[in-house]
Amino acid sequence: MAKKKTKSFKKKKVKLLEIRKGDIVEIIHGNDRGKHGKVLKVYPRSQRLIVEGIRFIKRHTKPTQQDQKGGIQEREAPVHISDVMLICPNCGAKTRIGHHFLEDGTKVRVCMVCNEMIDNR
Ligand SMILES: [Zn+2]
Repeated sequence: MAKKKTKSFKKKKVKLLEIRKGDIVEIIHGNDRGKHGKVLKVYPRSQRLIVEGIRFIKRHTKPTQQDQKGGIQEREAPVHISDVMLICPNCGAKTRIGHHFLEDGTKVRVCMVCNEMIDNR
């Protein structure tokens, strides 16, 4: 009988998202497919981000003391990172993100389409 390998429990590392706040992304899945928006917030732990104007959810709020009326509030809902692609600020194409090291060792993100740096730092 083959021995089953015991799973090694590695410490979970929060992977930094390739897409950062301020980037322009295109939605590639779902109802908002094809829309562009600016990333407003990233959640590295859940691998999700909030994109301006994308995927509004309606929240029915009950009247409270602060908000006498209540009613329906529209807010952006987090989108999973796999549902978006970065729009390159240089060539305007949807792109995957590559990495490049500068002479001083700084890691920068590069566009896989035009090979230009995405970060202008
Ligand atoms: Zn590009």
